[in-house]
Amino acid sequence: TREIRLASRPVGRPTNGNFELAESPLPALEDGQILVHNLFMSVDPYMRGRMNDVKSYSAPFAVGKALDGGAVGEVVASRSSAHKEGDVVVHSLGWREYAVVDGSAATPARTDLAPASAFLGALGMTGLTAYTGLLKVAEFKPGDAVFVSGAAGAVGSLVGQIAKAMGASRVIGSAGSPAKVARLLELGFDAAFDYHDGPVVEQLEKAAGPAGIDVYFDNVGGEHLEAALAVLNVGGRVAMCGAIAQYNSTEPTPAPNNLMQAIGKQLTLRGFLVGGQRQHAAEFAEKMAGWLADGTVRYDETIVEGLENAPQAFMDLLDGANTGKMLVRL
Ligand code: NDP
Repeated sequence: TREIRLASRPVGRPTNGNFELAESPLPALEDGQILVHNLFMSVDPYMRGRMNDVKSYSAPFAVGKALDGGAVGEVVASRSSAHKEGDVVVHSLGWREYAVVDGSAATPARTDLAPASAFLGALGMTGLTAYTGLLKVAEFKPGDAVFVSGAAGAVGSLVGQIAKAMGASRVIGSAGSPAKVARLLELGFDAAFDYHDGPVVEQLEKAAGPAGIDVYFDNVGGEHLEAALAVLNVGGRVAMCGAIAQYNSTEPTPAPNNLMQAIGKQLTLRGFLVGGQRQHAAEFAEKMAGWLADGTVRYDETIVEGLENAPQAFMDLLDGANTGKMLVRL
């Protein structure tokens, strides 16, 4: 199979030279395994962290070895009683065209509910992150005013729409271009701004008005988190989901400088990983399927063609070229 390997560890922003397209023989299937022809693979911001040689919540990628990550594909051969040829499954051996996967590590994708790609996005890990981050981590309740950064991205766009669907008093999003801001308003956000247009705190204060915000869903960190801390109401909650403004940093980043706000305002800042939220997967899947079916929640996809373009898709994701979920079609 063709696969993408990590050729070297990026320092700062990744470049083409950090990746290598290679060919690898497929091992024969053992009992319990399936052969999957990948249809789509996911590129995700967290993969940037795994390219560094540091101990973290997920092991670093090895130099000279294929990368991995979420993928959805069709079973083309099976020695597992759990999956048969023709089934569509989600698994974690992306960055290659064909994958030999343990049957127990593959989950059926309900393609009667949505196209296969949705199981990497709105109906997959991305959707579960948005749903649980907002409802379980930030403990959103109806009437809350919500601010989400990275709002035109895969997770952020779902967070805003879920908040609206569940009775938010106001949903505010920030994103990196005028087109993304326009898209957020189409998706039902009450207000949106381009963070390049001026200090985030000023734009957020204006968008929130005197009512302030009760929940901040943080995908970005840095200046965005600092602004949210300034604007949050007493008793406000922050779901710390990501800090993409820092993923390529080679130096520690100073913001937020106002963490002390958390004391006087009695704020809750709670970090989370979607992997720790799996107990809510069934509840999430049922709710999200309903919202997609009745049009309450819509999702965008940015699709790049071909495995050979996966490194570029990943680099473009970090640069904000995507609206909604960034995917590679294999
Ligand atoms: P997105 O679809 O949101 O893509 C990333 C986006 O980040 C880009 O499109 C870009 O949009 C934005 N961005 C890049 N650099 C900056 C910057 N310096 N400042 C502000 N925005 C920037 O990705 P995901 O939806 O997959 O992930 C969103 C966040 O959620 C990430 O931080 C990710 O690590 C995190 N995450 C965390 C999980 C968890 O378990 N805790 C699980 C999944 C995701 P723009 O044009 O607006 O700049």
